[in-house]
Amino acid sequence: MAALADSKPTPMMAQYLALRAEAGDALLFYRMGDFFELFFEDARKAAAILDIALTTRGEHGGAPIPMCGVPVHSAESYLARLIRAGCRVAIAEQVETPDEAKARAKREGTPSSKVLVGRAIVRLVTAGTLTEEALLEPRRANVLAALVEVRGSIGIAACDVSTGAMVLEECAPEALGAALAQLSPSEIIIPEPNPRAGGDLRQDGAIPPEAPAFAGAHIPVDAILRPRSTFASDAGAERLKVLHGVATLDAFGAFTRAMLAAAGGLIAYLDHVGRGSLPLLLPPVLREAQLGMAMDAATRASLEILEAAQGGRAGSLIGAVDRCVTGAGSRLLAEDLSAPLLDAGAIEARLALVQFWRDRPIERAQLREGLRAIPDLGRALGRVVAGRGSPRDLGQLRDGLTEAARLHHWLSGAPDRPALLDQMLARLTGHGALTDHLARALVPSPPTERSSGGYIADGYDAVLDELRSVSGDARRAIAAMEARYRAETGIATLKIRHNGVLGYFIEVGARHADALMAPDSGFTHRQTMAGAVRFNSLTLHAEAARIAEAGGHALAAEEAHFEEMVEAITAAREAIAATAAALARIDVAAGNAERAAEGDWCRPEIAEDAGLAITGGRHPVVEAALAKAGERFVANDCALGADDRLWLIGGPNMGGKSTFLRQNALIVLLAQAGCFVPALSAHVGLVDRLFSRVGAADNLARGRSTFMVEMVETAAILAQATSRSFVILDEVGRGTSTYDGLALAWAVAEAVHSNIRCRCLFATHYHELARLAESCEALSLHHVRAREWQGDLVLLHELAEGPADRSYGLAVARLAGVPAPVVERARTVLEKLEATREATGGIAAGLGDLPLFAAIRPEPKATPEQALAEALRRADLDALTPREALDLLYQWKRDLS
Ligand code: ADP
Repeated sequence: MAALADSKPTPMMAQYLALRAEAGDALLFYRMGDFFELFFEDARKAAAILDIALTTRGEHGGAPIPMCGVPVHSAESYLARLIRAGCRVAIAEQVETPDEAKARAKREGTPSSKVLVGRAIVRLVTAGTLTEEALLEPRRANVLAALVEVRGSIGIAACDVSTGAMVLEECAPEALGAALAQLSPSEIIIPEPNPRAGGDLRQDGAIPPEAPAFAGAHIPVDAILRPRSTFASDAGAERLKVLHGVATLDAFGAFTRAMLAAAGGLIAYLDHVGRGSLPLLLPPVLREAQLGMAMDAATRASLEILEAAQGGRAGSLIGAVDRCVTGAGSRLLAEDLSAPLLDAGAIEARLALVQFWRDRPIERAQLREGLRAIPDLGRALGRVVAGRGSPRDLGQLRDGLTEAARLHHWLSGAPDRPALLDQMLARLTGHGALTDHLARALVPSPPTERSSGGYIADGYDAVLDELRSVSGDARRAIAAMEARYRAETGIATLKIRHNGVLGYFIEVGARHADALMAPDSGFTHRQTMAGAVRFNSLTLHAEAARIAEAGGHALAAEEAHFEEMVEAITAAREAIAATAAALARIDVAAGNAERAAEGDWCRPEIAEDAGLAITGGRHPVVEAALAKAGERFVANDCALGADDRLWLIGGPNMGGKSTFLRQNALIVLLAQAGCFVPALSAHVGLVDRLFSRVGAADNLARGRSTFMVEMVETAAILAQATSRSFVILDEVGRGTSTYDGLALAWAVAEAVHSNIRCRCLFATHYHELARLAESCEALSLHHVRAREWQGDLVLLHELAEGPADRSYGLAVARLAGVPAPVVERARTVLEKLEATREATGGIAAGLGDLPLFAAIRPEPKATPEQALAEALRRADLDALTPREALDLLYQWKRDLS
C-alpha cells in the first residue's frame, strides 16, 4: 500500500489509474494478495452498498485515498450484492506471480525495488452475464438481451449465458414492450445513438427512459450503450456460423437482418465482458411471436405470473403452481407460463405427459426422488464451457449424466409412453464414453477449488499415482523423522510442523533451544518466536523438497487431466444441453402432475372454438392463501360462448369479482401452457391474445397519472384484441369521476361486445351498466352474492346470474372498521341521494336510448352572462377585502367584454 502513498504517481498508482480508466462505468476490483481492493469513488459507492468499513490509505493529490476491500475467498457474495444493486464490476487480477514479475524486471533491467506484479482486467461481471452458482437464482433464468432497430423493425437477440440458451426474434417497435416483458432480461444492450439519424431506441420512446416495468423487479434495468458498429448483421451471421461450425444458418431458422444484427451486438458484448473468452452459446432458436398466445406487459403484471405485485415469487402464479424438484424444471416452467402456446397439438403433447405422471403416483414419486438428486447440468455445463468450471462442476456433470442414463433405462420399459416422453428419452443417453471418462478420472466428491488438486482419482494415471506415493512416502518419512529426533535429543515436545512461509521446520520450546543451537547439532536455526524456536535439518530439507517437487508435478498432471475433461465436455455441449432440457421437461410434467394430484386439478379440454366453459374453477393463489388461514375457497363456473360472450359482473367490494376474473384468465393461461388447471372441468377454446386490465384506483401507489395509464392500456386492447382473444376488465373507468368513468366503462364494454366480439369478463360497480344488457345481445349480467344478516354483511363469494341488487357499500365500510357514526351519517346522505334518483332516473338516465357508439356530446358551454350570474351567486361578499371586491368587479367586466 505504501506505493499508493507517494504524491507523484508511483508505478502502482499508474497501473491502478490505467485499469480504472479501462473499467469505464464499472467498479474496479483491484487484486492485492488475498483481497480485492476498491479506491476513490468506487470505494465510497461499494462501502455504502455493502455496508463495509470505508478507510483511507496513503494519499493522492494531497488528499487521503478512500479505500475498502473484500476478501477474495468470499468475493462472490459481495459481487452478488453489488450486481443486485445495479453495479457492474471489472475484475483486475494479478496475471503473474511475484517471481515472474521479478524475472521480468531482471530481463527489462528495472531495479527490483520498482517491481510491480502485472495486473489486467480479466472479466467484467454484469447482471446479464453471470455463470456462478452463488450469483444466480437457481429457479430463474438470467437473460441478457440485445436490441437494435433495422429499417423500422426491432431485432432482439437474447441469451442465458448460464445455460447457453439463445433466441432471436423480430418485432414491431410497439410490440417491444410485450416481447421484453416475456423475456424479462436482467441486462439490455442497445447501440449508441446514431449521431446522424438519431435512431436512439430510448429517445424514440421504444424503451422507457426510467427503469422499465419489464425488469425483474430486484434487478433494475438500464440499457447499456454499445458501439453501433458491433450491431452488424453480416458480422453477426459470420460469428454464429463460426461458433456452431456451419456453412449456413438455414438449419437453425430463417433469421432476418435485424435479428442477426442484434446477435452480432450480443456476441460482441459477450466478447467484451469476457475479455475474449466466450461463454457457452447453443445454436440460436427462432422465436415467432405469432405462434404463441400474446400477452402484453400490463397483462403479465396484473396476472402476477412470475412475480407478485409486491415483488417476489410468493403470491405469484408460479409460486402456487411450481412443484418441480430441480432448478432447471422451475426455469422451464417459468418459460412455459411466460409463453403459453397456440398450437393445440403441442399443448396436447404436454398435457399427455402430465396425464402420464398423474396416472402413476408411485412411479412419479420414484421419478421425482431421482430427479431431486440430479445437479443443475445446464448451469454446470455453462460454467465449464465458459472456462470457469471447477472440479465439482465436472463431478456434477458425471453424476447428472449418469442419472439421466439410469432414468432412460428405467423409463424405456414403461408401457403406454406418450410421444413427448419418447422424444425426451432419446435425449437422455449417448454420453456413455464421457461419463465413463469422468467416472474413472474423478474422485467421488471433487472439491470446488481447482488450484490445490486432489480431484483426480487414484488409479487413473500411473504417473500421478507415483508422484502421490513419492510425496506420501516423504510425508511418512517426516513423521518418522519427528519420532527419531525426539529420541535423539530427548526433547519429548519436539515437533515437525509446516506453514506457508517456512515450509517444513522443527520446533522446540525456548528452554530446549540451546541444545539444538550447538554448531554440531545437525540443526540450523531459522526463526525465534515467543516461547518457541524453529530449526531446519538437511534430511528434513531433502524430504520437504521431494514433497514439493512431486506435489508440483502432481498438480500439473491433474491440471492436464482437467483440461482434457473440459475439452471432452465442450465437444459434447449440445448433446449435454439437450439432456438437461429433456430432464427439465420431464420434471415440469411430473411437477404439474404432482400439483394436479395435490389440488385435484383437471386436464383441460383444448378446442379450436371460441368457447370457454369452466366448472368449479378456483384461483390457485387465493385458494392457497385462504387454505393457510383455514378458510375454504368457493369454486365458481364460467361459461362464455358465441351468443354469451361478455359477462358483466357486479356486486359488493370484496365480493370476489377480481378473483373470479383472474382465475378464469389463469386457467386459460395454464391450459395453453400445457398444465392441468384448478377446476372440475375446463373447456378452453384457444385464446390468441390474453388481456387483463385493472382499474387505476388499485394502482395508486405507482404514482404516475394512473388514469392515463389505465386508458392507454385499455386503448391497446381495443386496438389489438381479436375475436379469438380473452379480455378481463376489472373496474375499468374507476380512476376518474363517476360520470367520466361510467361513460368510458360503457363505451369500452360496447366496443368489446359489438366490435371486437371476443370473450370478456367485465367487473364493475356501476349498476347503471346493467342497462347494456338491453342493447347487447351477447352480454349477460352476473353478480357475486352477498347477504346482510343481523346488520352484518356476509360475502358469499358465489357467482349468480342477474344484476346486483345493491352495492352494500356502507356494509363493506362497516366491515372495514369505519366508525359507526360516520357510517350512520353516510346512510342519511345515501337516503337523500336515492330519493332524488327516483326523480331524475339516476346518473345513467337516458343512456338506454343512446344509439350504439353515439359520440358522447360535450357539455354545452355556459354563455358569459350565465357564467357571470353563477360567479355572482357564488361570491362570498363578507369574505372579501375592499381591494379584492374591486378586483373582482374589474375581472367580471373584462369577462363580459
Ligand atoms: P372484489 O374484486 O369484488 O372487490 P376480490 O376478488 O378482491 O373482491 O376478493 C376479496 C377477497 O375475498 C379475497 O382477497 C379473498 O380473500 C376473498 N375471496 C374472493 N373470492 C373468493 C372465493 N371464491 N372464495 C372464498 N373467498 C374469496
